[in-house]
Amino acid sequence: MNRRNFLLLSTLSPIFAKDFLTLNNDVNLDINDLTTLYTLDYRLKKLRRFVGYANFNLISFDEALYYARNYSAIGEFTKQEIALIEKIFYISPSHFGFYGEKTVQNISQKISQKDIKKIGYSGHFLFKGKPLDDYNRIKKDIGNSIVLTSGIRNVVKQLSLYVSKLKSLNGNLTKASSIIAPPAYTYHAISDFDIGKKGWGNKNFTADFARTQEFAQMRKLNYISIRYTPNNKDGVRFEPWHVKVI
Ligand SMILES: [Zn+2]
Repeated sequence: MNRRNFLLLSTLSPIFAKDFLTLNNDVNLDINDLTTLYTLDYRLKKLRRFVGYANFNLISFDEALYYARNYSAIGEFTKQEIALIEKIFYISPSHFGFYGEKTVQNISQKISQKDIKKIGYSGHFLFKGKPLDDYNRIKKDIGNSIVLTSGIRNVVKQLSLYVSKLKSLNGNLTKASSIIAPPAYTYHAISDFDIGKKGWGNKNFTADFARTQEFAQMRKLNYISIRYTPNNKDGVRFEPWHVKVI
């Protein structure tokens, strides 16, 4: 049995309580994992620099391991880092207040070039079919002030966003998961995308986006909806920029 299958089975046993700390009702990484979180975050950033921003959205976990092992500009993932990645991927986040659907079953999920389209000047990709059709329709209906701010995110990209957020919150899984879906639970891996207002930068990922003309127009389109509405049952903050595709 390979290591990953073993870990998958091991998550069926009640390993949760002893592997995490609960502080003020929030679930946190323990001190050892917190130390590993820092090195993992740094390595993922080196990997992103190595493969390039756009490509980083797509690469699989196995490709990440390959690049890290073979290129000293990244350096091989440590045993502790791999264990932490697997812990974050396989543990059910309902333990820390995230109740969304699992969207990625396989940590090694690959995204095929034939299924996707790169969106010019965005550094992002969309799946062909409904996601791409919806995006093109939104652009046509609202206009060129709409930009794609995030499209397809495979496991490694979502992991890097989650790890980076977790690091900024000192390992608080409860808080991190209310801001960003854990890596096996993002709809960016299968369909959804984020849109914003041209020139708005990171403000596109704040509640301010809900006050734009673009958002007001978006609300009138009957073919799309917002995945994370205020007080959604998934336990995610309000995300007016995140378009629900399926
Ligand atoms: Zn999103």
